[in-house]
Amino acid sequence: MNTNQLSERLAMVASFVPKNTVLADIGSDHAYLPCYLMNKGKIRKAIAGEVVTGPFEAATRNVELNGFADRIEVRLANGLQAIEGADNVETVTIAGMGGTLITSILETGKDRLTNVQRIILQPNLHAIAIRKWAVANGFCIVDEEILLEDSKIYEVLVLERGSADYSKTDLLVGPVLRRKQSNVFRAKWEREMLEWQRVINALEHAEQTEEIKRKRANLQENMEIVRKVLAHEEK
Ligand code: SAM
Repeated sequence: MNTNQLSERLAMVASFVPKNTVLADIGSDHAYLPCYLMNKGKIRKAIAGEVVTGPFEAATRNVELNGFADRIEVRLANGLQAIEGADNVETVTIAGMGGTLITSILETGKDRLTNVQRIILQPNLHAIAIRKWAVANGFCIVDEEILLEDSKIYEVLVLERGSADYSKTDLLVGPVLRRKQSNVFRAKWEREMLEWQRVINALEHAEQTEEIKRKRANLQENMEIVRKVLAHEEK
């Protein structure tokens, strides 16, 4: 990966960035994404936010090497604290972290999202946490994609302002992804079901405390939701 050639995962994130936007890429590491988008002439200006010194320095180096220091500002900051009101950021990207961490970054810094129209998120796990956050915070999911790269499956979620009333099924597997039902989507949930069944079997041999019973019931409920989705029985 470099500033001219992104991984398929980051290229998918980049494909959802609107033309001519002002971008904030949070957790930017080498600033690959903003540099790539600037190279392609796709964005006007960007903030690359990083909370760890090493990746912050790598991002600063890449921005300077590409001659973008006047258009991409690298900031050492925690989450959305990298964004200031005067930046007029319109699009936020957060990629390559767990869904729970992404959700906590959004929740902690939501006062920085005032001018933001689109948020593009690529959680490595637990996309459900992001979907729940979106509903609770006046965002809806306008698109979703799923892809396989190096035997790992990644989801990309695109949020815009709006209200939505998602079912348990939508929240778990994605309102857009379940309609598209790609092969990668089916493979992800078939894998997940095998893993859940393995855990359910193990829990059956454990002491049946209330917590164990609750865990089993939750997994069985999720198994039934996903089984119906894959069998096209869910509306
Ligand atoms: N976004 C890049 C990508 O998708 O390839 C880098 C992903 S890397 C696995 C996650 C990066 O997020 C790390 O550089 C880490 O330091 C940074 N990070 C984690 N928590 C953060 C936070 N609260 N604020 C800003 N950056 C954060």
